[in-house]
Amino acid sequence: MRRIAVCPGSFDPITLGHLDIISRTAKMFDKVLVVVMSNYRKPKGTFTVAERMDFIKRCTADMPNVIVDSYDGLLAEYVESRGAIAIVKGLRAVSDFEDEFKQALTNKILRPNVETIFMVSSSEYMFLSSSVVKEVCGYGGDISTFVPEVIREDIIKRIGKGGI
Ligand code: ADP
Repeated sequence: MRRIAVCPGSFDPITLGHLDIISRTAKMFDKVLVVVMSNYRKPKGTFTVAERMDFIKRCTADMPNVIVDSYDGLLAEYVESRGAIAIVKGLRAVSDFEDEFKQALTNKILRPNVETIFMVSSSEYMFLSSSVVKEVCGYGGDISTFVPEVIREDIIKRIGKGGI
């Protein structure tokens, strides 16, 4: 049986924290679907869905079992339609926990066969989020320890110093 996992998120933009979770998941599963979710909670992002997907593709080019996709709908439905068995989410601090717990339990009710797995963030990325990247970059700060090098210039071009 091919074991497929889904790593969902906004990825607006992808950070080294996301990439850490994706690469660790890719070692555990046969195939990983990284899915840019365009949902009602964050209706308009900084980058378009197509741009976010392009960034993720460039950052995961060396991971042959990672596939990038997008979805606008119920995550539980997406997971089932792709034959995946797990949703893998990164957990940073206690602050992530309550919302993630709620989502995991809801998905369990909707699709009892799909497991949600929480992967603990690596300590160096514990504080890192897409909004931290945008805030630091927007004020002209150095984002080289936050985002993969292959997309850094594109992010700076868009939101570097005052562009946000
Ligand atoms: P953000 O909260 O940065 O907007 P997303 O909505 O794109 O992130 O999150 C997608 C998934 O990636 C979530 O499970 C989130 O907890 C996880 N994640 C985001 N940043 C990190 C990080 N620095 N370390 C581990 N997991 C992370």
